[in-house]
Amino acid sequence: MDGKVTTTQTRRTRLERGRGALGPALELVHTGRAPTRAVLTAELGVTRATAGAVAAELEALGLIQVDSRPGAAAGSQGRPSHRLSVDDNGPVALAAQVHVDGFRVALVGLGGRIVATAPRSGTVSADPAQVLGEAVEAGAALLRSTGRRCVGAGLAVPSAVAEPGGTALNPLHIAWSAGAPVRDVFAERIRAAGIEGPAFTGNDVNLSALAEHRHGAGRGAQHLLCVATGHRGVGGALVLDGRLHTGSSGLALEVGHLTVNPEGRPCYCGSKGCLDVEADPLAFLTAAGRAPGPEVSLLQQSRDLLRTEYADPAVRRATEELIDRLGLGLAGLVNILNPDRIILGGLHRELLDADPERLHAVVADRSLWGRGGGVPILPCTLDHNSLVGAAEVAWQPVLDDPLGALTR
Ligand SMILES: [Zn+2]
Repeated sequence: MDGKVTTTQTRRTRLERGRGALGPALELVHTGRAPTRAVLTAELGVTRATAGAVAAELEALGLIQVDSRPGAAAGSQGRPSHRLSVDDNGPVALAAQVHVDGFRVALVGLGGRIVATAPRSGTVSADPAQVLGEAVEAGAALLRSTGRRCVGAGLAVPSAVAEPGGTALNPLHIAWSAGAPVRDVFAERIRAAGIEGPAFTGNDVNLSALAEHRHGAGRGAQHLLCVATGHRGVGGALVLDGRLHTGSSGLALEVGHLTVNPEGRPCYCGSKGCLDVEADPLAFLTAAGRAPGPEVSLLQQSRDLLRTEYADPAVRRATEELIDRLGLGLAGLVNILNPDRIILGGLHRELLDADPERLHAVVADRSLWGRGGGVPILPCTLDHNSLVGAAEVAWQPVLDDPLGALTR
């Protein structure tokens, strides 16, 4: 309401423009880039009235909240703009992540906000239908207990996911057979549980990179490279202008098999000295002369060692060795991909924290562009970023067309 007389014609035009702007507007609020209606108006390049109509429509859909009476910001002149935020009681996406030590499910609202989550530890069954069935059951229980509307479901797996079939190509650290049809199995379990909306499946590191790009350390990067090691092995992902680059058949950025130590450990891929076996938690524990125990995950054991025994020369040497190998891998990737930012997850994040100068120096020494400009290397910042990313892909149809997706 702007106190102006509006003709039928301009009202209709406003509505048409508004429909097309709903998705972009929702994405701006979702990613925190439009905290007020004034910013939304500027970002969309529409009139204030159109932006107001768009915000009102998204509020009516239960997706965002419009605070029309915000307190004036300190030092601001005139009437403060309406504040926009995601609706904390709005719909959620169901996200599931299978990893070496079990699985975790979560309900994730807009803004990448985890509403509820439940972990399950234990050996992952060799039959994907078994573990995915249990995960979907756990997710359905969360939906029942919270009473939230579900927009769709996303699954993160520790394997490359081949397109277009949605098969897990190399789930080598869990007992699934190569080529397991995980996307179909997950979608079937979601339908069987009566959960609404489409179901998606992706590689865990790809999904974590997407989440970090929208809500974490990757925000604003144009060519974002993510490298991470969780429990075993090393994964990579590239987000180009906001979209995951997955290659012609879903298998891009298999960075784990870059050779970083020609005389190194044998790798299950048939080569030796791959990043996968030279820069993961098992490699770190082994380099430090520690026998991995069964009590907690290898990642946790590595973290504990770094935090509590960094003064031990063997631990420090192991840290330097892994940093050098990781840096070598990153330098090769920088030369090929020319990213404007690198983010590191899992143990790689801890290695960066332990000695950022050393890692930067290795990358700079070994890369053409690194030597010149210095690509920023930052730690991932989100908790459970693969789960948040799995929810992102489930949210995508709503972000693309809020009205169409929610009123279908
Ligand atoms: Zn390999």
